[in-house]
Amino acid sequence: MSNETGPVLALSGGVGGAKLALGLYRILPPDTLTIVANTGDDFEHLGLSISPDLDTLLYTLSGNDNLELGWGRRGETWTFMAALEALGGETWFRLGDGDLATHIERTRRRKAGESLSAISHDFRRRLGIAARLLPMSDDPVRTRLHTAPTPPSPASGGGLGGGAGGWLDFQDYFVRLRCEPVIDRLEFAGAADVRPHREFLAALADPQLRAIVICPSNPFISIDPILAVPGVRAALRACNAPVIAVSPIIGGKAVKGPTAKMMAELGLPVDAAAVAHHYRDFLDLYIADEEDAAAVAGLDMPVVLTRTLMQSLADREALARAVLAAAERVRK
Ligand code: GDP
Repeated sequence: MSNETGPVLALSGGVGGAKLALGLYRILPPDTLTIVANTGDDFEHLGLSISPDLDTLLYTLSGNDNLELGWGRRGETWTFMAALEALGGETWFRLGDGDLATHIERTRRRKAGESLSAISHDFRRRLGIAARLLPMSDDPVRTRLHTAPTPPSPASGGGLGGGAGGWLDFQDYFVRLRCEPVIDRLEFAGAADVRPHREFLAALADPQLRAIVICPSNPFISIDPILAVPGVRAALRACNAPVIAVSPIIGGKAVKGPTAKMMAELGLPVDAAAVAHHYRDFLDLYIADEEDAAAVAGLDMPVVLTRTLMQSLADREALARAVLAAAERVRK
């Protein structure tokens, strides 16, 4: 039975995932789309509760994303940061003035006892977003990265990532150290004890579901934390709707960020097929870039090749259409 009007569930990290989420949002009846965001990147900084992937999705879907920077809010100003710097405050994590309002208001409401999902729901409504935007869980999960041990070397200067290796908090690795340390494993601290958001679980089990879309996000730091939430992986394996992933690797490289670097450090081949392998226990179809036809030729699952680089709004919509057309092909 065709299900061309059923709801769609998208799993997303930040910038890469939000591009496709926006494409889906623009072509679907908006109230049929649910986007579940990674919260493994969330952290406390300067006393504020910061949820980078939820915020990227909020800003992107409401047309408030900063296209020049590729993160943060459009038309941002930096008075707070400059004043903080003059006072000798911590400035390695850049918080624009408008962005700061999001974190301050979220922190205030968290302290008053509201859940992350209730606040996200209200923020997206106030910003005029009709799609549902959920954190993967209301309980905290914290991604940490283990730096590989390195032999002592006078050149290392004793910096992080040298010596015996050790654990780094996500934003220390990602922003403060600009993803430079070589990593050998990751963990999602607290994940074993959290519950998936109940609307996330309900969406996974919805018999009307048209497709589950794994957005082209970093598999290790954006999608794996979502998969580490108890019950999610099993629900993906069991669900009736087709599970479709879009490759974040194009032409053997990441468009942006440390995805390819991490694959090499984790001992994986740096190609589009390795991402499909990473998801193989629940994936029904993989969408890879035309440039990667040779790399994915040996995959033992249905593959659709298309242009996956999303530069324009039209690119985002075209890829979203390709994802939905592919879902029709693998209806279970
Ligand atoms: P982050 O949380 O902000 O790091 O963002 P994500 O994890 O959601 O996305 C990062 C990934 O998006 C990287 O692996 C990029 O290669 C990928 N990416 C960014 N732009 C595009 C694009 O236009 N097309 C595809 N296929 N992948 C993209």
